[in-house]
Amino acid sequence: MGRQVVDVFDMLSTVRAGGSSDVHLAPLTWTERDDITTLCGRDIRGPPTQSFRRCGCLRCAGSALGLGITAVRESPQVVVNLSRFLDSRMP
Ligand SMILES: [Zn+2]
Repeated sequence: MGRQVVDVFDMLSTVRAGGSSDVHLAPLTWTERDDITTLCGRDIRGPPTQSFRRCGCLRCAGSALGLGITAVRESPQVVVNLSRFLDSRMP
């Protein structure tokens, strides 16, 4: 069972969430399951319409780092380093 968490959060994807205009993070398997929320606990509404680098959710980024995930693939060409992202967004 302990391994399951690692598997689920092994890869994250960027998503759009209910009640928020930010871009959030969710396990890559959100497309196959309806019991998954974003890392900050919001309902997933679909693929994001903006870039995580510009509009990413700080709580999702912090949660991912807490799980030991240091980066998220935003597109085939773009990987966002989460600690650098948080550094750039923190005052
Ligand atoms: Zn979030």
